[in-house]
Amino acid sequence: MNNSNPTATFSGPYYLSIAGKLVSTEAGFDVFNPATGSVLAQAPAATADQLDEAIAAARKAFKHWSRLEHAERKAYLIAYADALQEHRDELARLLTLEQGKPLRTMAEPEVDQSISWIRQIADRPIPVEIIEETDSHIVELHHTPLGVVGAITPWNFPVLLALWKVAPALITGNTMVVKPSPFTPLTSLRFGQIAQSVLPPGVLSVVSGGNELGPQMTAHPDIAKISFTGSTETGKHVIRSAAGTLKRLTMELGGNDAAIVLPDADWESIIPQLYWGAIGNSGQWCVGVKRLYVHRAFQQQFVKAFVDYAVRQKMGDGLDPEVTVGPVQNKMQFEKVKTFLDDIKAKGYKIALGGDIDASRPGYFIPVTVIDNPPEESMIVQEEQFGPIVPIIAYDDVDDVIERANDSPFGLGGSVWGRDTKAAVAVANRLETGMVWVNEIHTQGVDIPFGGHKQSGLGTEHGLEGRQLFTNPKTVLIHK
Ligand code: NAD
Repeated sequence: MNNSNPTATFSGPYYLSIAGKLVSTEAGFDVFNPATGSVLAQAPAATADQLDEAIAAARKAFKHWSRLEHAERKAYLIAYADALQEHRDELARLLTLEQGKPLRTMAEPEVDQSISWIRQIADRPIPVEIIEETDSHIVELHHTPLGVVGAITPWNFPVLLALWKVAPALITGNTMVVKPSPFTPLTSLRFGQIAQSVLPPGVLSVVSGGNELGPQMTAHPDIAKISFTGSTETGKHVIRSAAGTLKRLTMELGGNDAAIVLPDADWESIIPQLYWGAIGNSGQWCVGVKRLYVHRAFQQQFVKAFVDYAVRQKMGDGLDPEVTVGPVQNKMQFEKVKTFLDDIKAKGYKIALGGDIDASRPGYFIPVTVIDNPPEESMIVQEEQFGPIVPIIAYDDVDDVIERANDSPFGLGGSVWGRDTKAAVAVANRLETGMVWVNEIHTQGVDIPFGGHKQSGLGTEHGLEGRQLFTNPKTVLIHK
């Protein structure tokens, strides 16, 4: 099926993909459209036995897949990217329907970036490294695949965050079982279904169901590694459970990223970047701007300009081409974000924009909310809101703001903004984060390592470092 039509749609039914086959289940569960709050589709709820079958098929497939040459695996991955490309419009639309993000500005770019990612990763073998060589001996470092990798993914970027795992796992010779979030399983089930037409059976399976599938994967003796993206709290459960079988782990967890606008910043020109950095995807980014520190000299003008920019955006159903801000993805998150609004009101912090939810509106819409200079100890500054609320905090002293930015259990990303690039880089170098952007934000690439410091994660995705984490470093010592 070639979906060149932007209104192309797939309306199910949805199947698990296991051992190259599309598999139905006895039980199903409802998936909601967050823009309407109504049921979008039924997703299959895998049983524990079905998950076991997927893992067994992946284990079986590993024997053959791991022994292929890089060029052979590359050809498979390119064929997979081509197949996804044929379904690009359909996948993007489905992503908007199940996740809520605007089709044109968020869902289509997410699908496009995912497909491009697979193509680029396919071109990046991990070379054998010669550690030392003498007349009589040679020492080589190889990177061999681990076995079956389990991918556990969240609901904010369900296509990209899953395929960020699939591409490097497969190209390095592993096989994979993906378990999507129960809130957004449909796009993953679809890309799993598409994979079965191009990849050998068992190389990539997708199994949806309740949260109980996660612990089954993390404890499973036949899974060698878990690549997890989700909250820090769940991440701690994953680590505990994986200890029993000493699994390899890559953990991409929560964050509370600070953006620091320095006294010399050309602050008016960066409002759009900071706005989208905070409010894009309705604030549901792991690396979203969650604390915006602006020098006191212009903080009030900044708040006004930020609000002026915000009111020009349209919130609504992501299928509407004029909409640039969608709903929060699910009811649970909607309730969680509401607790931040309740706290803000109870404490009497100054609301520069938004704050009031329209209870009569269907769907999970939280208005874009700007909080003018809440205290450092407030919930909205200290905790991860993961919704469209941004605190704009005044600071006086650069050393002090660096300390405040670092005073967090999280350390995912951050950004620093200033005219004097050297001075901004000096500030960036003092932030305790896995990533930091200077005068730009959210740039990513297959060769750019991405990971969290402190309680924001373990290990890295992307870059050679990220790909190597899907492998076992194996030293080969040869007497000539
Ligand atoms: P979550 O932790 O609730 O769920 C993530 C996944 O874990 C889901 O697939 C869920 O079904 C599964 N799961 C739940 N309980 C489990 C268990 N006991 N064992 C194994 N798996 C289990 O996270 P979420 O609400 O889906 O996502 C939002 C969070 O993800 C935010 O904190 C955000 O910052 C974080 N996130 C981080 C990154 C990153 O790259 N660092 C990217 C996106 C999101």
